[in-house]
This record gives sequence, C-alpha cells and structure tokens, in this order.
Amino acid sequence: MLLPAMPDCKDIVVCGNVPIAKLTVKAAYSFLLRRDFADRRSAPRSPLKLPRIFPLINNAQLTKRWQWIASSPLPAKVRQTLWRRWHNRLWLGPESATADDAAAAQADQAKAPLCPYHPHQDDSLTHFAYMCAEAAAPAQAYLAQCWQLWTDYAVDPLWLTKEWAGKQAGWMLAFACLHHALYAGRMHRLDARFARDRPISLLLYVLALFRKLVHGIAQATVGHLTDARLRDRLKKLGWPDSWCEVGAFAMPWPPLPGAATPAPPPPPHSAN
Ligand SMILES: [Zn+2]
Repeated sequence: MLLPAMPDCKDIVVCGNVPIAKLTVKAAYSFLLRRDFADRRSAPRSPLKLPRIFPLINNAQLTKRWQWIASSPLPAKVRQTLWRRWHNRLWLGPESATADDAAAAQADQAKAPLCPYHPHQDDSLTHFAYMCAEAAAPAQAYLAQCWQLWTDYAVDPLWLTKEWAGKQAGWMLAFACLHHALYAGRMHRLDARFARDRPISLLLYVLALFRKLVHGIAQATVGHLTDARLRDRLKKLGWPDSWCEVGAFAMPWPPLPGAATPAPPPPPHSAN
C-alpha cells in the first residue's frame, strides 16, 4: 500500500520551544501545567458572593446553614444543587438575548436565562424556585400541603427570605428535595425532546421525583435505626413523626395536582 509522504515538519516548534520531532507527552503535559499555573496566578480572585435572595441573613444563620447541609443525610446531588443555589451558581438555561451584564449584576444571579414557560420574562433563582406559576408555585403549594399532613409545625414566615428554618431540619430536607426536583425538571424541560411537555406533565415529573427523594432519604436513614433514642434525636431535629416510624414505614402524601378524583364507592349491594 502506498501512503503519501509525510510533510516535512522538522522546523515546527511547539509547547514553548520544542521541535515537534522531539515532543513527548511528558514535555507537552509539563508545558500545559506551567502555563495553567501562570494563568491562575495572574487571574483576578473571584470570591464567592452571597446571593441577593438572603437580605436578612446573618453570620450565625449562615454558619448553621453550612453545618446543616454538611451533616444532613441528603444525597450528594441534592446537597450540591442547594449549595449552588446558596452560592448563586445554579445554571438555569441558555442566557436570553437581552441579558446584559449590568442588568445581571443587579439581579439575583449572574445571567438571566428565560423561563421556558414565560418566554418574555427573565428567569431568576426566585422565579425558578418559588414564583413560576406553571411549575414552582404549584410545587411549593404541594410541599406546604405535605408539611401540613406530616406535622403541626408552622413554618417560619421568614423562611422565604433566608431559607433557614431553624430547628425544623425536616422542612429544610423536604425543601432541598423539592428544589433539586425542580432543577431536575428544568433540565428535563430544556431537553429538546421534552420541550413541548405541558406544564402539568413537568409538575408531575417534579413531584414524583420529590416524593421519591424524601421517601428514600427517610427510609434509608430510619431503616438503620433500631435504637429508639436515635429515632428520638431525629424527632428533635424536626423530622415529622411519620418519617421516624420503624417497621411499618409509610409516608402519607396528599393527592397529586390534576389527579382524577377517586371514583365514588359502588352502591351497597342490595338484597333482593
Ligand atoms: Zn416561569
């Protein structure tokens, strides 16, 4: 077989000043490392900013928040989604054509993508997680219904402004799961294959994932606890009693939005 002759490259130098004929993987790697190190040393420092959605937060609450997120039994991906929210580092989708840096600097996140359901409105961490009438608001309403069903606790009315519920770690955990489910739903919706999904389909997708997460965490955690004192500790952490039942573990749920109303019971059998 005849192959074309190799071009003569002996005069080409790469990676600083290495003739290409003498280039080795090790030399290329060490060149890239040196350059990366130089770039990083000269790059401006960019410390993490506090998200603007927490105007009322103070340092003591911040510390507790980090302690909670580090110690709660959340799956890593749920923890990471919430951590990104709290650091204003949650990617919500492609940026809108109108997003400009000056406006973005005033908003509660770095760039403004568009909400897939409200194409004329800039999205934000607040719109995405609480305000969007198609996905977030009904999902949050469902969370409130769940909490009502599970507990008699009243959630701190300041919750929305600081996302810290004090001793009610169960609420924090449920919110973290819903937040992650909303985010997974958003990423699902951004996939072109599902872009035509109706809002109710997305909402049910989000709520199904939320239920799976909360149920899975509670069951996995309590399932290892045969010690009643440990279960009492969970209750002190504000976990609803129904999450802490060992044995007959059954977490009750309110009906899903849009669920068909149950058929009326058949009429009683009448004897002839
Ligand atoms: Zn929206």
